[in-house]
Amino acid sequence: MFPLTEENKHVAQLLLSTGTCPRCIFRFCGVDFHAPYQRPYKELLNELQKFLETEKEELISDVPNPPPKKIRLQELEDGIDGIDNLSQNGEGRVSILEDGSIASKNSNLNVCNVCLGILQEFCEKEFIKKVCQKVEASGFEFTNLVFSVSFPPQLSVREHAAWLLVKQEMGKQNLSLGRNDIVQLKEAYKWITHPLFSEELGVPIDGKSLFEVSVIFAHPETVEDCHFLRAICPDCFKPAKNKQSVFTRMAVVKALNKIKEEDFRKQFPCPPNSPKAVCTVLEIECAHGAVFVAGRYNKYSRNLPQTPWIIDGERKLESSVEELISDHLLAVFKAESFNFSSSGREDVDVRTLGNGRPFAIELVNPHRVHFTSQEIKELQQKINNSSNKIQVRDLQLVTREAIGHMKEGEEEKTKSYSALIWTNKAIQKKDIEFLNDIKDLKIDQKTPLRVLHRRPLAVRTRIIHSMETRYVDEHHFHLYLKTQAGTYIKEFVHGDFGRTKPNIGSLMNMTADILELDVESVDVDWPPALDD
Ligand SMILES: [Zn+2]
Repeated sequence: MFPLTEENKHVAQLLLSTGTCPRCIFRFCGVDFHAPYQRPYKELLNELQKFLETEKEELISDVPNPPPKKIRLQELEDGIDGIDNLSQNGEGRVSILEDGSIASKNSNLNVCNVCLGILQEFCEKEFIKKVCQKVEASGFEFTNLVFSVSFPPQLSVREHAAWLLVKQEMGKQNLSLGRNDIVQLKEAYKWITHPLFSEELGVPIDGKSLFEVSVIFAHPETVEDCHFLRAICPDCFKPAKNKQSVFTRMAVVKALNKIKEEDFRKQFPCPPNSPKAVCTVLEIECAHGAVFVAGRYNKYSRNLPQTPWIIDGERKLESSVEELISDHLLAVFKAESFNFSSSGREDVDVRTLGNGRPFAIELVNPHRVHFTSQEIKELQQKINNSSNKIQVRDLQLVTREAIGHMKEGEEEKTKSYSALIWTNKAIQKKDIEFLNDIKDLKIDQKTPLRVLHRRPLAVRTRIIHSMETRYVDEHHFHLYLKTQAGTYIKEFVHGDFGRTKPNIGSLMNMTADILELDVESVDVDWPPALDD
């Protein structure tokens, strides 16, 4: 059913005669159900012309003796029925196209002066197909999508001008029109294109989807439409970082809300003039939100940093834990890049044994995202087969939110270590036994010299929960420690020139040094353990 009523006729006539498209006319007449917008453009234009044609005829016949409104409405309904019959046999269409006054000025070739072709050419199946071809060629795996569009900012100016025009026209009939009574261009565009996208791609449109298809429109011909606003409202157009132009949509809308109606009318034509060309498509972009993979790693090498070790642009060691794991993930997820994080870190010469250290990897813009648990298991196997320096366990897909569990309460967690200690003086078994009895020893650690270049100078109190010793020979013993996370173990052993107090050396009254260190366990119960 044609959605306009008698009440809309003057407005529709005015807009059509000034170069506005039928769908924009619907919007300004507040048509807020989807179906009329979705009908083929040519049909809409023809019907609109017919609808207004009856008005013209009526006006002529009405002139001598205008009947009361009620009767006119009745006549109008008859008129619409009559037109429908006409259009079925095709005669109506021809007669209107032959009528120069409406059809020649407003054929579907004319670019709408309000939407600049957005609700014309860019709602057509051909255009949607073109976008979908791009989506399919992008190689992303998706089961739903979110579709976003970016319109040129001058569309808001034109919309404003058309609104003022319609408002004035309606004022003559003692009717009012608020900004919110108009259906937003974006809304109408959504109503038309979403079903077409869904049908073409065979997946639903879902605002929560991680897969986003975005189309950016521009209209070079009318770029200067916005410029007069800057003189009137300079505050709204301040240069911002990462913005190519000060005329962002947000800034334009802000200025339009501030500007007085009479000032706007002085500076910008109402109705807006008709452009020669429709919008251009600047970009059709596909992107997938990040996905996250977590697990635990063991490090068996004393010659492998956790992250690439680069000093002054020069690489010191050829690999790293992060790369040995992430390279495989990048390839399988077909992601653009990754971000590695973990629950603490170990020095390059420290091994991580036991259950390993929890880690999480953010995979940015992944093209493949759906994996069975079997496939993830195989991926883990592949990582483990590729290097004997590291092993990975409990590899799994996790949510972004879950990553928080890894960092949560990190300071309160305990970590277990084993260290091989050297002493300058000869020792007996009984010289180290007293260490086994020390519980919850508080130590003060000044930021170690070796990390001072990247950490602020501070004194931090840490707790050595317990220690256990195993005598090796006159100058060596093993020390097993349970400590608060964040304790610098090497410094606790040798004292860091008195910067960590007390330390193993000071407790034993001799010089002690650490030869080897292993992390035995990181007591963070995330990610959950998986069965093998
Ligand atoms: Zn339009």
